[in-house]
Amino acid sequence: MDLLNLIGGRWVEGEGEEFADTNPARPAEVVAHGRFASAREVERAVAAAREAAPGWAATPHHARAAVLLGAADIVDREADTWGAELAREEGKTLPEAVAEVRGAARILRYYAGEADRENGEIYASPRPGENVLVVRKPVGVIGMITPFNFPIAIPAWKIGPALSYGNTVVWKPSSLVPLLAYRLAQALTDSGLPAGVLNLVYGEAEAGSAIVDHAGVNAVSFTGSTAVGRAVIARCGELGKPVQTEMGGKNASIVLADADLEHAAEQVCLGAFRSTGQKCTATSRLILASQVADELLERVVARASALVVGDPLEAGVEMGPLVSSAARDRVSAGIVRAVEEGAKQLAGDGFRDRDGWFAPPTVLDLPGTGVDFWHTELFGPVVGAVRADGTEEALGLANLSDHGLSAALFTRDLGVALQAVQRLEVGVLHVNSESAGTFPYVPFGGTKQSGFGPKEQGRAAREFFTQTMTVYLGTPRERA
Ligand code: NAP
Repeated sequence: MDLLNLIGGRWVEGEGEEFADTNPARPAEVVAHGRFASAREVERAVAAAREAAPGWAATPHHARAAVLLGAADIVDREADTWGAELAREEGKTLPEAVAEVRGAARILRYYAGEADRENGEIYASPRPGENVLVVRKPVGVIGMITPFNFPIAIPAWKIGPALSYGNTVVWKPSSLVPLLAYRLAQALTDSGLPAGVLNLVYGEAEAGSAIVDHAGVNAVSFTGSTAVGRAVIARCGELGKPVQTEMGGKNASIVLADADLEHAAEQVCLGAFRSTGQKCTATSRLILASQVADELLERVVARASALVVGDPLEAGVEMGPLVSSAARDRVSAGIVRAVEEGAKQLAGDGFRDRDGWFAPPTVLDLPGTGVDFWHTELFGPVVGAVRADGTEEALGLANLSDHGLSAALFTRDLGVALQAVQRLEVGVLHVNSESAGTFPYVPFGGTKQSGFGPKEQGRAAREFFTQTMTVYLGTPRERA
């Protein structure tokens, strides 16, 4: 399949380098190909977004919402086909991929619903005949840079609110998953999105930087690794540009002595191994009450070892490959290093001698928190455990990280759960469920090195995608 860039309402072959989108389960298989946008085309995309901005902002919110609703219907209708494409280019299993596509449709519908919700405030004034309004207006042109691991859901939860609130967009998806980006843009244009409102440019770091740097881009929404996110924050700081970044995680699951161990083991494995551990909210650190640590680890190891790893399109496969050879090498090196630093490998017997970027579900018993594994995000199906004496120590260990995205806590004690709400330094906490998973109608995002700027999803999204104007609305004197 040929992939085209979308610039000013026209689908165009890029002027840049050729790229091939390959299947991580069968690296010789090309899923799609195309050409990156040139620097000149990024310029054109920004110019088109600027030109379209006043008209789109002036379009009634319900008319903007109608485009999102139409796109949601298309996404839903195509979910099985696009889900299979997603599994082929990214590597998550078919059921997960189809669920992600359907999730994107739900997100678009939620943001279409914003047209029906309150969108501002009104205050009294001490001056006779005056009211004070707080109105929300679009920000203008939003630069968007998205990661590989949710090729359609993350773009939907940025593009949905951006468009609903009346902004225009220049979007650079991850170069690893260009096909699903094309599909989302296609759904929106087929549903009647006016020319220039959404511009899709394929490219790598250079195109991302060009968008961030461009004076015509009013604000930047980024999701990806902490290293790149921090560079984006720094550059936007220099330019005085609003920026929102959702970044990496090193998420802990804490299992206390009173937990339902079978349930905890099941949820820990879902958190650690679904999507091959390539979720920002995946469980990678396990903190176990010492009384139950051995038993819990035994259950986790049994489940991890039984997982069916293979081609994500095959029925019954529970875990696909990592996204790329670079990812496989990084995960492999991380495991070797952990073992060199004293970790015991309880599951994950080396890397399979097979085609594709596969990694086995791996469980490590760590010698303590001094190892690199504890602090560095590997972004793969690897979980490392330590033991804790008591709740307070367990919560302290969870906080022993520069990251603060999500955590899971397994306990039957409501008092302890509330203690964790107070103590844990994370943006998302799951009590008695896996560390990953979000609902589109509530805020999502991290603290510490995991997130910067306003949160995403739910109504929180409007903090970034709108700007307020405070209006002192007085009555002319003769009518007061
Ligand atoms: P990444 O390597 O940081 O890339 C993210 C995006 O930034 C891609 O589109 C990438 O382009 C682009 N990029 C790379 N260098 C850039 C630069 N110098 N300037 C501007 N853009 C640049 O992340 P990834 O590997 O795709 O995704 C995995 C990471 O994202 C993990 O750390 C994960 O935890 C994090 N993540 C966080 C969340 C969250 O909500 N907190 C959600 C999902 C993922 P290329 O694709 O061409 O490199």
